[in-house]
Amino acid sequence: MSPRVIVIGAGAAGLLAAGRAAELGAEVLLLEKMDKAGKKILVSGKSRCNLTNSAPRAEFLKYYGANWQFLRNAYYRFFREELLALLARYGVPTQVERGGRIFPTSGRAEDVRAALLRYATSNGARIRYQNPVQQILLAGDKVRGVATRRGKQIPAEAVILAAGGASWPSTGSTGDGYRLAQAVGHTIVPLRPALVPLVVREKGRAKTLQGVSLRNICCRFLTRDASGREEPLAPPYPVPPTGEMLFTHFGVSGPLILTMSLAVVDALRARKQVFLFIDLKPGMNVEEINRRLQREFERRPQQHLHNLLQGWLPHALATELAQLSHLGPERPVHSLRASERAVLVRLLKGFRWEITGSLPLEAGMVTAGGVQLTEINPRTFASKLVKGLYIAGETLDIAADTGGFNLQAAFSSGYLAGEGIS
Ligand SMILES: Cc1cc2nc3c(=O)[nH]c(=O)nc-3n(C[C@H](O)[C@H](O)[C@H](O)COP(=O)(O)OP(=O)(O)OC[C@H]3O[C@@H](n4cnc5c(N)ncnc54)[C@H](O)[C@@H]3O)c2cc1C
Repeated sequence: MSPRVIVIGAGAAGLLAAGRAAELGAEVLLLEKMDKAGKKILVSGKSRCNLTNSAPRAEFLKYYGANWQFLRNAYYRFFREELLALLARYGVPTQVERGGRIFPTSGRAEDVRAALLRYATSNGARIRYQNPVQQILLAGDKVRGVATRRGKQIPAEAVILAAGGASWPSTGSTGDGYRLAQAVGHTIVPLRPALVPLVVREKGRAKTLQGVSLRNICCRFLTRDASGREEPLAPPYPVPPTGEMLFTHFGVSGPLILTMSLAVVDALRARKQVFLFIDLKPGMNVEEINRRLQREFERRPQQHLHNLLQGWLPHALATELAQLSHLGPERPVHSLRASERAVLVRLLKGFRWEITGSLPLEAGMVTAGGVQLTEINPRTFASKLVKGLYIAGETLDIAADTGGFNLQAAFSSGYLAGEGIS
């Protein structure tokens, strides 16, 4: 007997889609390219799987940037509570942690993967591993099945495409979803890495600071276009007033940087220059820093500039800033004039870097771009172009901030696609 529904990809979206379609009585065949399901779930949240977030729905949607409206309807039908209830039914209790991030109480992504796999299989979905789909087969404008790379054609009345993005290809998401969708007529919004570390022009300085991580700092990004016009870069998602970042051998990374990275990548694609200013002391304004420096100068006038900065900053960063100030690291602080103190204040309030690029698509945590959302029904995730085709998860043009938002989008869209079919 030919299967009625084929799900392409046993990741977060595909497992929910298969489970829901099977639960509602469809005969489901899940085709997975890799030798096991949910490899990306396993690496998510540092293998602890930050599966969603406790933010209220309206605030939650702000973490999807420009495309937030698309998910609004879906989140009225299958959202966090429904997801958590489903996981609880399959033996996975969860807990809320810092920033509203929700994890399995066990702290094991494997438990989430296993529960979702059980959801699909216990409802009757069959899974074939190492079965990459090569083509979605059409009869006119309607799906008639798929062709696998093993040269087999499998008929189906409906196909759910949930092949993920193009990031972290070792997990199986190698961009097939985009190629499969494009081949049947879908528009692909250009792919860009998101939640990705950034590369700086000042490589030598970054290498010196490699491994230094900063807390309670603030990052400001500024763009400059070809005419020289400068403007602040708007964050794609809500940004906390202060947060963390770190230096790597090629540039910068960490939460504040990852959150801004898609906006930076897009600005660079628009041929703008991008500058990062790190406010190392966001809790104090220029005047307050000035006064505090002066107080320290008076208290210990013989102290070297370098030593003074070490009281304020991580060791390597203090050394670097003392050198960058060109005031002389060994200079006793009492000899610094007001104008020289102003140089220090400027560095502390705006440690400047030029961003020249990002790590490649494969290294981002998610892929921005993908199947254009205007071609998808936001209630059912059905393609508006091909009858019987549904598209869910990261293959769609959805890229959210860190915090559990990407997985929730995959789970919700997968679940509703499974329901849409049935
Ligand atoms: C390191 C890392 C950490 C992350 N941490 C988090 C986190 O904590 N919280 C969060 O919300 N998000 C996180 N994300 C993002 C999140 O994991 C993804 O957005 C989400 O898994 C996307 O789900 P998906 O089902 O669309 O795709 P995937 O989970 O990538 O699943 C796609 C599946 O399709 C299969 N496939 C691909 N092509 C074919 C084909 N041709 N035929 C058959 N099968 C195919 C793949 O093998 C894969 O199993 C993280 C991402 C990374 C890389």
